Amino acid sequence: MSRERILVIEDEADLREVLTYNLTREGFKVSAAADGATGLELAREKKPDLILLDLMLPDVDGLEVCRRVRQDPTLGTTPVIMVTAKNEETDVVLGLGLGADDYISKPFSVKELIARVKAVLRRQTHVVDDDTRQALRRGPLKIDPARHVVELDGDDVRLTATEFNLLHFLAARPGRVYERDTLLRRVLGEDAIRVDRNIDVHIRSIRKKLGSHRDLIETVRGVGYKFSESA
Ligand code: CA
Repeated sequence: MSRERILVIEDEADLREVLTYNLTREGFKVSAAADGATGLELAREKKPDLILLDLMLPDVDGLEVCRRVRQDPTLGTTPVIMVTAKNEETDVVLGLGLGADDYISKPFSVKELIARVKAVLRRQTHVVDDDTRQALRRGPLKIDPARHVVELDGDDVRLTATEFNLLHFLAARPGRVYERDTLLRRVLGEDAIRVDRNIDVHIRSIRKKLGSHRDLIETVRGVGYKFSESA
């Protein structure tokens, strides 16, 4: 059995211990840091399969940690789950924009947290449909699910795991319109977070990375999104 590695970055000692204890008991290999700078160091050293990131941290805060993880070529696609307090909704939207994959609000049950961790890890390794595993070409875009790589005019585009799955799902079905709820369910999984703007934030981020080809993903007003048929 391969033990997936989880990095917990949390300054509250009690919570850090509870998380470490329970995740270890679930079979994960856990490292823990009490502040952002140590967390980043450990991330680079341990190359975790997932980072559980508290937003309110002394020194380097969670959003900055998330930004630096995404900018680090060796960590760029590592899934990040943000741990937030109830009043940090704005930070959640910012964090999802920075490429965090999911969030969980304090207080949460350990059971809920572990379900979330497993769902994000599953999403990371699972491509949405088995019938679309071969590389797709759509105009300037090449999406290779086997290598988890996207190229635009021959240049690598760096997407988070969630962005990759979303783009791949839409591009595999050009012209078909999907509602936001359907995309949440199909791409993020049944237990995906239910923040209205969640899909919109991911789409905005993908479009930004597509630059002048941003219109490959079309907004269907009042309904949702589709991948352009003309690509
Ligand atoms: Ca904290």
